[in-house]
Amino acid sequence: QIFASIITIGDELLIGQTIDTNSAWMAQELNKIGVWVKRRIAVGDNREDIWRALDEESEHAQIILITGGLGPTADDITKPLLCDYFGGKMIMDEQVLEHVSAIFRKLNRPMIDRNMKQAEVPDVCTVLMNKRGTAPGMLFRKGDRIFVSMPGVPHEMKGLMHDEVLPLLQKELQMPFILHRTLLTAGVGESFLADKISDWETALPPHIKLAYLPNYGMVRLRLTANGTDRKHLSKELDELFAQLQQQVAEHMVINEDITLEEALGRLLLSKNQTMATAESCSGGYIAHLLTSIPGSSVYFKGTVVAYAYDVKEDVLGVQHQTLEEKGAVSEETVKEMLAGLLNTTSADYGIATSGVMGPGGGTHDKPVGTVWVAVGTREKAFAKKLHFRFDRLKNIELTAAHAMLLLYRF
Ligand code: ATP
Ligand code: MG
Repeated sequence: QIFASIITIGDELLIGQTIDTNSAWMAQELNKIGVWVKRRIAVGDNREDIWRALDEESEHAQIILITGGLGPTADDITKPLLCDYFGGKMIMDEQVLEHVSAIFRKLNRPMIDRNMKQAEVPDVCTVLMNKRGTAPGMLFRKGDRIFVSMPGVPHEMKGLMHDEVLPLLQKELQMPFILHRTLLTAGVGESFLADKISDWETALPPHIKLAYLPNYGMVRLRLTANGTDRKHLSKELDELFAQLQQQVAEHMVINEDITLEEALGRLLLSKNQTMATAESCSGGYIAHLLTSIPGSSVYFKGTVVAYAYDVKEDVLGVQHQTLEEKGAVSEETVKEMLAGLLNTTSADYGIATSGVMGPGGGTHDKPVGTVWVAVGTREKAFAKKLHFRFDRLKNIELTAAHAMLLLYRF
């Protein structure tokens, strides 16, 4: 087993101004190639702390990935520190200098000495070219330890990982193959699923593992196989995945590792049909998710964010009386919202949402987390009452996920 440690550098991480998304992403990518992340640590822009982190992490892991602190400003001290740590001296790298100059030429901005510094690297490192920015990645070796330093900017780090770091690690460490097959279930919890398939799961060969990944009240099941013979492994995994699909058939939504918005998009595309949303409590979030998928303009018509009573009435044609008598969070209201949406747009299908998202505003009959969702067409509509029990943002996400699920299964 090969172990890695991740060191993220920056005061902004410690004071909580920036959330460390880099190490979560890196850990996932390392996991895919069979490297186990043993520790993740964040340190400030402080020489002693970074030095100590390098010492400590190299005791625990063979691969040490570092992000942040490579910028040209005084608070970014990682590069000279690494130079000292690995006993080198700073030299100008011609290839990086050309790359940085080209970036400034393109931006039509003068290059000052401070920017030139970006092209200086310790002479003891291997330079990893960063196509997306000015700070290069650097690879160092000490004994059998590999250290890689990358910029903190997430898309630059990801680019370097994909272009340079992961292929290099895979080649160098002769990693075994890891293959995944994932399916999504809804409507039942992980313990229910675990009970249902326990005999099958126990009989899995040791190099194939099953993971339960619950999210948004739905559970993804992921089969992971480890081995060296890719073709054989792939065939073996496909057979087991087919068995798993049979076992959970009645709860399965999708037998691929894709999101609900992608699945919904594909379904509409295959039927050559379109949809729109009328969103009260989800505030356009469903539309946001759907439009995040490239090509969604083919099947997604638009949304009406009908938050206030008067917008529900004036734009969607909900009856004033319905709102007064039944309330905004009711079966009648979401059904009228849906009908109004399909009246005013040419969409084939619609989703309408209305709920109490919290933290305030709940009543005895309709506590925080009560949501009504309607889905359907001009001919046929279906409404369902849902109950969530989280904070406001989580409730919005859950509403979106479950509303899309209802339409997907409609
Ligand atoms: P550059 O040379 O491009 O300035 P850098 O290595 O100096 O990169 P930082 O200055 O530390 O990187 O951070 C650049 C940006 O990346 C900042 O917006 C910072 O908030 C963000 N960032 C840094 N570290 C992380 C991290 N671990 N997770 C997510 N974002 C991060
Ligand atoms: Mg920084």
